[in-house]
Amino acid sequence: MTNDGRVRRRTLVIGLDGATWDLLGPLCERDLMPNLRALRDQSLWGVLNATYPPVTAPSWTTFATGVNPGRHGVFDFFTLEPGKYGKRLIDLAQPAAPPIWQRVKAAGGTPVVINFPALYPATPDCGVSVAGMLAPNTDSRFFSPRHLFTALRPRVGEYQIDVRWPGGGAEALPRYCRAIAALTRARTRWAEAILTAGAWDLAIVVYVTLDRLGHKAWGVLQQLARGDDKPETELTVAVGEALTELDRGIGQLLAMAGPDTDIYLASDHGFGPGGEVFEPNVLLAERGLLALHGGRTALVRMAKRLRDGLIAPAGRVARKGWGVAPTTTGRAFAHLVDWSRTRAFALSVTDMGIYVNQQGRFPQGMVRGEADRRAVVEEVMACLAELRHPLSGRRLAVETRRREEIFHGQWTEAAPDLLFVVEGGALHSGTRTHGARVHAADFLRGDGNHRQEGIFACRAVGIGSGRTRHPWAIEDIAPTILQRMGIPGAAEMDGVDRLGDRCSERHR
Ligand SMILES: [Zn+2]
Repeated sequence: MTNDGRVRRRTLVIGLDGATWDLLGPLCERDLMPNLRALRDQSLWGVLNATYPPVTAPSWTTFATGVNPGRHGVFDFFTLEPGKYGKRLIDLAQPAAPPIWQRVKAAGGTPVVINFPALYPATPDCGVSVAGMLAPNTDSRFFSPRHLFTALRPRVGEYQIDVRWPGGGAEALPRYCRAIAALTRARTRWAEAILTAGAWDLAIVVYVTLDRLGHKAWGVLQQLARGDDKPETELTVAVGEALTELDRGIGQLLAMAGPDTDIYLASDHGFGPGGEVFEPNVLLAERGLLALHGGRTALVRMAKRLRDGLIAPAGRVARKGWGVAPTTTGRAFAHLVDWSRTRAFALSVTDMGIYVNQQGRFPQGMVRGEADRRAVVEEVMACLAELRHPLSGRRLAVETRRREEIFHGQWTEAAPDLLFVVEGGALHSGTRTHGARVHAADFLRGDGNHRQEGIFACRAVGIGSGRTRHPWAIEDIAPTILQRMGIPGAAEMDGVDRLGDRCSERHR
């Protein structure tokens, strides 16, 4: 049932954070995800390219707005703290460009958004909205309208925002993967309850199952996809259970939406192996672009101040689901660095960027003027181009882009000056200032990481089915949906309607 006659087509988007056909293809072929396989086989499907670099916050925001990060202003889960060398969590409720749900509502339709990773607090711009991983707990403004949450909870059970690493090493992995399976099951239960509680025209339901499994258990996922004959272990069973829950969820949502609803599957980025960490600040220090206060004495002083609680430890995101890995450099970083001699630095593991210490932008900025800023960017690019693995001496493939090459719009200058991807995404980015420039990932960083190539599939009347060789871009999803729903706004977006031509071709 749709709300009224104004919206042409009801649409359901199932978001799969961190999905790649490299994994899902073989899982479909081996019939481990039969609902996904059936949907794919009825759909037009292919590669969906993430934003550059392929990180969650900008990519989902681009998915929602149809514009590049230079126009929506989200480059990371964090934003620069004015007047400081640090970052704080962003308020994602108001990106600088309108998300698709606002446009659907403005056209008289009812949008519902469930567990959107780049949303917190929940927005009243939807019939129902539920924030994703940034919500600290269910007492926060994570659900709108609140009275619906209160009404559904006794029947549906506790809402789970995300999973949290239970602590410990490899022995905790099976328990963690079972928690991911339980999270997935709860997500479906809540999505069903919300979507049957009232009429809707656009529903977006995001599962983080594949991203959470991928970061910690990429090897096991690959093993299941290959169909290795290795004996089952507690871990492979737990991972398989999570995949089964995800597939069941897809099946249940499709059954509930019915055959007349347009269906989309979309990821924010792909996934692949990744067991090492690149430390940009270590490399910049080695090359004299970042200067640290005098050696060991400073470190000892810092350790003492940390112990005495005078400064906060490296920015830990004390929120559920974020584990305990330092996600941004903390206040200690600002004290360790000699800013009067520092020209470039990295601040966060989730933006894959490097900042120039520019006067006017940072409190002790020492790079003056645009020409000098660009010169520093070139110097950093040259350093990255020569990045070698400290153990093997092998040159690592580093891709770098200047912010103005990839972003356009009024927020471009809020981005890091330079963005990078190491070995196609195989290396995580770290925030250490000391030690090796490349090292093995600790257990918390895991054995998988993001890739540029994600997935999409679309099942709708008149568009046909089969794999397309032409990748879509993540900014194409919003205009494609709007166009098919008969809602204006697609023309203002950076992405394009990918189905319009296809429909007219087929009808010619
Ligand atoms: Zn993601």
